[in-house]
Amino acid sequence: MSRNVVSFHYTLRDPEGRVLDTSAGGAPISYLEGVGQIIEGLDEAMQGLAVGTKTRIEVPAAKAYGERDDEQVQKVLRSLLPIEGELNVGDRFQAGTDQYAPIVTVMGIEGDSVLLDANHPLAGVDLTFDVEVTGVRAATAEEVEHGHVHQPESGCCGGNGGGGGGCGCN
Ligand code: ZN
Repeated sequence: MSRNVVSFHYTLRDPEGRVLDTSAGGAPISYLEGVGQIIEGLDEAMQGLAVGTKTRIEVPAAKAYGERDDEQVQKVLRSLLPIEGELNVGDRFQAGTDQYAPIVTVMGIEGDSVLLDANHPLAGVDLTFDVEVTGVRAATAEEVEHGHVHQPESGCCGGNGGGGGGCGCN
């Protein structure tokens, strides 16, 4: 199956127009299309764009970081949290020692209980991307197999991996 590796610059804004993230001033982002390296709605909208294309792409929350899920908001005892010292509304921390443990946000503090939200901070948020495509090339068979982009100079993952472990190019 043939796929492209696409490189692009982007500026990400929320519905109020605030800049949430941008690649400006740094290297463009490269991704293997169609494998979930970038959010679904952006991946879909950028398919087939030519090098040099500058465009605005609106991605609804459902195709970005998903809708908010109220089930992800839970009240827990303060004493059970792996946090030393002061805790404030808006604090974010990893809810466990596992590297895949969710990042949670403190929504409220009531006595000895803390209200934690495990939704992604951008869940439920419609996103606007201003993108500029800076490169498109055919992915190598190895990149397609690994499901991520290799650096063309070194043939290495360059930390862009995600898959990590199974990749023989570390
Ligand atoms: Zn690899």
